[in-house]
Amino acid sequence: MKHVWMNGRMVKWEDATVHVSSPVVNSGLGVFEGIRAYWSKEKSQLYIFRLKEHVERLFFSSKVHRMKIRFSKKQVENAITETVRRNGYREDVYIRPLVFRGGMWRTPETPIEVVVFVMPTPRPERMKRMKNGVRCCVSSWRRIPDAVMPARVKTCGNYVNSHIASMEAEAAGYDGAIFLTVNGRLSEGSGANIFLVKHGILVTPGVTSDILEGITRETLLTDGARELGIEVCERDVDRTELYAADEVFLCGTGQEITPVVSVDHIAIGSGKVGSLTRKIQKWFFEIVEGKQAKHLSWLTPVYG
Ligand code: PMP
Repeated sequence: MKHVWMNGRMVKWEDATVHVSSPVVNSGLGVFEGIRAYWSKEKSQLYIFRLKEHVERLFFSSKVHRMKIRFSKKQVENAITETVRRNGYREDVYIRPLVFRGGMWRTPETPIEVVVFVMPTPRPERMKRMKNGVRCCVSSWRRIPDAVMPARVKTCGNYVNSHIASMEAEAAGYDGAIFLTVNGRLSEGSGANIFLVKHGILVTPGVTSDILEGITRETLLTDGARELGIEVCERDVDRTELYAADEVFLCGTGQEITPVVSVDHIAIGSGKVGSLTRKIQKWFFEIVEGKQAKHLSWLTPVYG
């Protein structure tokens, strides 16, 4: 991680700093994105997955927080690609664009800072979770309701909610937490959307269940379901439907397609990774590695 893009220029990693007075430090007032790029050995290429959609959401998040980005969407897309390229990665990476107010006060003079940094994400560790699945609990914490914090926006401060739930889950020996809404319906994971499989149908909470409207979720609900011939259903989901499900998985940029093999120590289905989850994983990885010609438009090649 040598080069960080900051407000239009590349700076050294150690020089990419934020002032202590910024509200992003003091109140979590900032917005961000999480984007992955996948290394294809076969094509000797690094592909950024759905860059355009992530940048679109970054601008939406900034708009909700009344932060006007001084760069165009295209400029931010280029900045992201250039930052990955300049660091010369030839492996999977996670990309983090961040937008925040660079000064203490929310005045028109306070600059809106835009930063992009990148980190490598070794495949073996991730593949272990995806192969074996994870053990989750339903958190005693509830997902932030949209009436309190903008749940569908990637606001930095929202993620205190995620951290507090994950820390509780890990302290109790689980791999991760699942959130209910304040009304007790299923919402999502601590940093990923959630799907259930019941009688061959993919079920996921709707967009009014205080979820982040995930790009991976949308990918599965539309093209994924159509191409794999799976029926989908977006609706309110009860907690006990988790225990009754044949399969459960988390999906998102961070979690990719991670099977959940137990919830609250109750085995999901047979307690092993389900066949539909495997099918979806296979479909997803073929796409992100550029093996599906019809979805190449979702990929931004970094090199060449
Ligand atoms: N929910 C939350 C709270 C998240 O942080 C993420 C990761 N961005 C997701 C869902 C999944 O969204 P996406 O597929 O766009 O990464």
